[in-house]
Order: sequence, then structure tokens, then C-alpha cells
Amino acid sequence: MSQQSSFFGHPIGLRTLFLTEMWERMSYYGMRGIMVLFMTAGLTGSNPGLTFSAVEANAIYGAYIGLVYFMVVPGGWLADNIFGYQKAVLLGAIIIAIGHYTLAIPFEQTFFLGLLFVILGTGLLKGNISAIVGKMYDNNDSMRDAGYTIFYMSINIGSVLGFLICGWLGENIGWHWGFGAAGIGMTFGVYQFVKYRHLLGSAGAEPNEMDPDRRKRLLSYFYVAVGIIAIAVLLALLGVFDIDPVIFASSYAYFLVIVAGLYFLYLFLLAGLDPSEKKNLLLLFFLFIGAAAFWSGFDQSGGSLTIFARDFTDLNLFGFELPISWMNLANPIFVVIFAPVFAGIWTNLAIRNLDPSLPMKFAIGLLFMCLSFILMVYAVNAAMQYGQVGIQWLLITYLLHTWGELALSPIGLSAFSRYAPKKYAGQMFGLWFTASAIGGVLAGLLGGEATGEGLESMTPIFSFMIKYYLVIGVILALLSFVIKPAEKESAN
Ligand code: GLN
Repeated sequence: MSQQSSFFGHPIGLRTLFLTEMWERMSYYGMRGIMVLFMTAGLTGSNPGLTFSAVEANAIYGAYIGLVYFMVVPGGWLADNIFGYQKAVLLGAIIIAIGHYTLAIPFEQTFFLGLLFVILGTGLLKGNISAIVGKMYDNNDSMRDAGYTIFYMSINIGSVLGFLICGWLGENIGWHWGFGAAGIGMTFGVYQFVKYRHLLGSAGAEPNEMDPDRRKRLLSYFYVAVGIIAIAVLLALLGVFDIDPVIFASSYAYFLVIVAGLYFLYLFLLAGLDPSEKKNLLLLFFLFIGAAAFWSGFDQSGGSLTIFARDFTDLNLFGFELPISWMNLANPIFVVIFAPVFAGIWTNLAIRNLDPSLPMKFAIGLLFMCLSFILMVYAVNAAMQYGQVGIQWLLITYLLHTWGELALSPIGLSAFSRYAPKKYAGQMFGLWFTASAIGGVLAGLLGGEATGEGLESMTPIFSFMIKYYLVIGVILALLSFVIKPAEKESAN
């Protein structure tokens, strides 16, 4: 670590990663905050949208999140084998910026093309930038965990900026101004990454060593894949396939579950793991299920809960009409406030040897999620009675989401790097984000069902969410007594 310059006592390169991730998340969440509003807006009025039904818009939103997070898997492979992590992040950031500028062009085709660019770019950026953070530290685990905590702050500061700027512009000036602002934010990220990339030194600069012929061959597979995607996209944009968003999203959900299941099976049975590695893998498997379930409620923020904010919440605050998407600000603001509190609680409990185990922390996360949907059932009842409810309902819902997130998300990320089988450590970010992908698609499908018929359809779906969280949470809590990580940690 350089002695002269540091970033809150950490290697100065962390600042480069912090600012890149901050602008990337500004663009991602800023756009995400208004995409369902844009898709469901009518054609008339000063800010026309795409006139999709709530069910279709939610399905597209879910499939989008699912694709964004699953693309982390090929993105990691490309970084490992072809580009190196730094170049993958840069390329990803440029593609994301192009995506948001494409979204800013007001046609239905450019909307979908823009989403595709953001999906592919985020696949190259998100997992790889998270991996470079880890590569900045030798083997000093406590510094590394603190580094990831700082990094988690950049995510949430970025999303505050995104909801504020893109949300306000999108809702008040025009949706495409919001999308364009996301592009400008990502451009700042590209600029500063190019300017300060040298501060990263050699962390993630080179891909794995490999015979040059083999790399050339892999690169040619990559070009073939890009070609196939380009042709498929062209045909889709020309209207050759008629894609039903709900069928697409539900088939994609099955696909993700099958791929993840097969991958775990492969690791268990065919990867030649030793017994302690298998024990840790079993633990990760249950955490994976907990995480996917968690995000399937959490990610309804940009879908069903945004529709609840628009149609059934009185957003007038002291005479100022809040933009609908600003309700989403609650989560990142609460994260910045409560992240140190949660870290302090875990440390204090650990001193007394009372630190809950990983499945128990996940169960706590799911319990908060369960409580948030109990609250939403009351909110829906109140809205049925009075037509609209105050913003406190959604604010407390998002507070519970945040407490759940803090019990599960930062801890899950580090568990997946710590307990991964040694040979497969690099792929574990991909697996962790695949749980987010499954959660995202389910959030779109469940959120669509919840909003299909207005308030009437919300109660059954939200009641289902309560039972579903209760069951998975209790199972994880019980498992925490049985499934413990092997003494010997299997990765460094
Ligand atoms: N909020 C975090 C981020 O944007 C985690 C999201 C997720 O894994 N679904 O990085």
C-alpha cells in the first residue's frame, strides 16, 4: 500500500473503484427507478410512455434485472480469460453509457436496445469491479472486509444520486431526460476510471496466463457469441419474433434455477472437492436459496411498490409533490445510516461469542422481509378504505427491507468469497449474483401478479410473500444448528 496517499486508510486505488461503482449505480438505479413508470405511462399527456400493462412492465423489469445480474457470469469468464479485470470494467462502463444514451432516444426499439447494452455492460463491470476490490488487499482479511464496506457505501451513494437526478428529470421534464442523465453519470464514471486507473496498479490488470493460441481460440468463440446476439437482436427489433414478456420472464426464471441447480450438482459430485469443501458448499447452497428469496421481495421496490406509490400513496410533503421514484431513496439513505450500526452490532455480539451464524443472519434478513409484507398488507387495506395512504407506510417498508439487506447482503458477498472451493473462487461472484438474478425475475413476476388488478390483487400476493418468507426463514434458522462451515476455510 502506498504510504503517501490512501483512501480512508485503504489503498488509493479503492477511490477509483469507489467512484466508478458510484456512477455506475447512479445510472443503474436512476434508470431502474423510472423504467416501470415509463413503460406503463399512457400515450397522451406531456410525458408519454409505452402503454404496457402493469403485468407486462413488471415482467420486463424482472427479466431485465435477471439478465443484468446473470451476465456477471460470462463477464467474469471474459475478464479471467480474455480482457483482464481492469479492461473488462472499462469496456463494461463504456457499453453501459452507450446503453443509457440509446435509452434517451425516444423510440420503443431504442428502449429495448438500450436495455440490452446496459445488461451486457453491467455483466462486464459489476462482478469484476467487486473482484478487483478484493485483489487490492494481500491476505489481510479484516482490511478487506472494511474495504468492501466502503465499497457498499459507494453503491448506495450512487443510487441516492440516481433516484434524485434521473427520477426528478424523468418524471418532471421527460422520461428520456432521466435516461440521458444516467448516461451522463456513467460517462463521468468512465472519465474518472480512465484518468485514475493507474492507481489500481497491477490489481486485476492481466487475464489468466494462457497459451496465446488458446486465447485466440477463446476470443474467436467470443466474437461468434457477439455475432449471434447481434443477429438475434436485429431480428427482434425488426419484429420477427413476437415475445410475450410474461412467458419470456417465467421461462427465464426456470432456466436460471436449472442452471444454478446443475452447477451446484456439478460442484458436489464431479468437481473433486474434499469433504470440508463439500460441507462449505452445502452452506453456500442454502445461503443461495435465502438470497434469491430475499431479492424477490426486495426488488419489488422498482415494480409493484413503485406502482403502489404512484396510485395509492399521497406524495404531497409540506406542499411539495414528491416524484414517485423518490420513494426509492429511502433504501440507500437507510443503508448509509444503518450499515455502521449493523457492523457494530455484529462486532459486539462477536466479542461475547454470540455472533449469529450465517444461516441465522440470513433468516433474520428474511424475517425483516416478512415483516415488510405484513406491513404492506395493512397499507393495502388502508388504501382500500381511504383511497390513498401516507408515505410512512412505504418508508417503514423500505426501512425493514434495508435492515434485511444489511443482515444478508454484505455478509453474503464475503461468505461466497470465503467459503468457495479453492479452485472455483473466481466463479463465486457469478454464483452470488445469480441469486440476485433469480430474485429479480421473481420480483417482476410476483410484482406483476400483485399489480395486475390494482389493490385487489395485492393482498393475495403480499400474503403469499409473508408465508413464503416465514417458511424459508424458519428453515434457514433451523439449519443454522445443523449446517456449520467446516473448521478449515476452503479458500484464502
Ligand atoms: N444493492 C446492491 C447493489 O446494487 C445489491 C444488489 C443485488 O445483489 N441484488 O450492488
